Amino acid sequence: MILMKDIVREGHPALRTRAQEVTFPLSEEDRKLASDMLEYLINSQDPEIAEKYGLRSGIGLAANQVNSLKRMFALHLEDDKGELLSFVAVNPKIVSHSVEKTYIPSGEGCLSVDRQVPGYVPRYARITAKFFTIDGEEKKLRLKGLPAIAFQHELDHLNGVMFYDHINKENPFAEIPDSCPLERE
Ligand SMILES: [Zn+2]
Repeated sequence: MILMKDIVREGHPALRTRAQEVTFPLSEEDRKLASDMLEYLINSQDPEIAEKYGLRSGIGLAANQVNSLKRMFALHLEDDKGELLSFVAVNPKIVSHSVEKTYIPSGEGCLSVDRQVPGYVPRYARITAKFFTIDGEEKKLRLKGLPAIAFQHELDHLNGVMFYDHINKENPFAEIPDSCPLERE
């Protein structure tokens, strides 16, 4: 199982390297990585398991973060209607997106970043995403709200981009044009 010690932190080259397309059928190793990443997220959101293993809670984890340069990431979170989104995306892409942006008013966090980085991270408010499941089935999803933000955060990891790269350096809380902040309950 993946533990905090297996997650690489800022400064590690894997976080700044573009991950490579995965070929199908997935190797046993790739399948295990996919299920381990999703398992980490599920465990990290279970208070008892998280405490037992010292896991920091997360909703997304990309392969780069466990030092594997494969284009895959896991997401495990509820959307604004309380529907659970839980999957591993292989070779993910954003095929279209809204002009409107959004951002989390309290900023973004990352399992590879052990500090608070203040500032707004502009994200597309709505995206249409395509990816493959671990079995090679193509999926198309329309996402908005937190799931859209999380998808963009994880896709960035596969391209060697960190969330704070998007923060305005002069004024981290500068107004984002054409945006509406993410509202949370
Ligand atoms: Zn991250």
